[in-house]
Amino acid sequence: MVVLVTGASRGIGREIALELGDDHDVAVNYRRSESAATRVVEKIEDRGSEAIAVQADVADSGAVGSMVDTVVEELGGLDAVVNNAGIVDPDLATEIDDEQWARVVETNLTGAFTVTRAALEHLVPGGDVVFVSSIGATAGTVDASYAASKAGLHGLTRVLAREYGDDGVQVNAVAPGPVETEMNGTILEYLEGIEFRGHENVDTHLPEYACQPADVAHTVAYLLENEYVQGEIVNVNGGMGFR
Ligand code: NDP
Repeated sequence: MVVLVTGASRGIGREIALELGDDHDVAVNYRRSESAATRVVEKIEDRGSEAIAVQADVADSGAVGSMVDTVVEELGGLDAVVNNAGIVDPDLATEIDDEQWARVVETNLTGAFTVTRAALEHLVPGGDVVFVSSIGATAGTVDASYAASKAGLHGLTRVLAREYGDDGVQVNAVAPGPVETEMNGTILEYLEGIEFRGHENVDTHLPEYACQPADVAHTVAYLLENEYVQGEIVNVNGGMGFR
């Protein structure tokens, strides 16, 4: 199986690419971090799978089309896409300017859509799509641009599962709580600055360790293996989401 993982140069995407690289060939997408992406490729090759690094800003639909063509050409097909690339640029709603809003939504939501749209002709029949959402989509945490972009992924998951399920394409999402990565550092710094407006309410039932990228990667691997999970949003948040 050939899998494209977007935003796989570091953090959660890197871990997903490495875990999937145990059994599958992997295209490691990145925007800027070429050398980090190359190191991920080398690690996957050490595990005996094929891997390539593919540069593309997921918010640029032209670049996305070329990226998908490159993956199909160089790895011989495309069977699964993990839409992990994402950014956060948090502010209170009245402080978010148009450019900030557009950048977050175009990367997190529109980017995931254009990558999937470009990939779908190769995924039929029998392929997989996984979106990396966030607890922010349902808990209303972080900020408006981030939560709205991630909530959009839930709608996309359900629509695409309906539209392409009969073609054997499985479409699901994982929704992590806070995971120890660079991005989470940015989020925590922001939340401390606004004195956790309501965010402390979701902090319940947590395991004793902070969620790691590998916890999310295991869930993505499970979704790719399991044929019978369809149109689901799988929470990976240690119980934060229920009270
Ligand atoms: P990081 O900031 O650590 O890594 C982000 C990755 O996405 C990098 O590889 C970066 O590549 C890539 N990326 C960013 N923008 C683009 C773009 N326009 N095109 C292609 N690649 C891009 O983030 P995390 O690992 O923490 O987050 C990964 C995903 O998980 C995101 O979608 C995030 O929203 C989600 N998530 C994270 C949580 C957390 O607490 N960390 C919690 C819930 C969800 P490069 O360096 O080359 O720019």
